[in-house]
Amino acid sequence: MTPGQKAEARIADLGISDPRDLDVEAIASDAGVAIEYRQLTGCDATLVGFGSRAIATIKRSHSRGRERFSIGHELGHWELHRGRSFQCRVENPSENLASDAGLEKEADTYASHLLMPGSLFSPVIKPLGTPGFCQIGEVSELFQTSLLATTIRLAHVNKLPVIVACYTLQKRRWHIRALDVPARWWLRSALDNDSFAYELLTTGKTYPAPRKQPGEVWFENDDAEKFEILEHCHPMANGEVLVLLYLTDFEMLEAGFDPNVGRRKYATARKANRV
Ligand SMILES: [Zn+2]
Repeated sequence: MTPGQKAEARIADLGISDPRDLDVEAIASDAGVAIEYRQLTGCDATLVGFGSRAIATIKRSHSRGRERFSIGHELGHWELHRGRSFQCRVENPSENLASDAGLEKEADTYASHLLMPGSLFSPVIKPLGTPGFCQIGEVSELFQTSLLATTIRLAHVNKLPVIVACYTLQKRRWHIRALDVPARWWLRSALDNDSFAYELLTTGKTYPAPRKQPGEVWFENDDAEKFEILEHCHPMANGEVLVLLYLTDFEMLEAGFDPNVGRRKYATARKANRV
């Protein structure tokens, strides 16, 4: 089973069928993990196990969503990586996504599925159409999760044609595409000056809902200019912007392989150079 499947199996075993019943401390207690809150420095959560029991120490946060995610993350380590102790930086999932810390990513995935299991999350998301950050904020209140964790889950649950990305003014930090969004759409590695994300980072301007944007603003593909997509942005800490892109044109989802972008393009260029 994958980390996500393990978390969802635990929720199913507990018979939880309402987001309001996702009491992560009760779930921890059931798994033999006692939760303590402290003012930690240098990390956001630790896990120390002995035999079949463990203590997870969680840094106090002004955000209940972050505390809950930290508990889910440590439960993930307990379930997936038993026998080891951990000191984790959980507060910013953005850091783990931008790094290649495998065990940390697994624990984040576990937490994400534990707090927002697909069986409860998908029915809430489905009727929303192409939700902007305001609606995602309402979903995050229902699940008591952070806006960032909820937005990441929105892509992973694969119910909407969405790409979630994080940029600074200099570069793309990470991105996640819903599984059914074709990988041939090659996201730009730096912000286009015409994107709302660029506007937000340079002028602070935000919009209340997703807005239309020409495809070439976001994708390197030559045929991106034929399509319009929806873009919505939300400011984050550290000069980062969180971006939602909806591929609302059905033809974009049906488009075949594009040899002019991505690894193939560079492999072809190298070959040409050798000749
Ligand atoms: Zn960790």
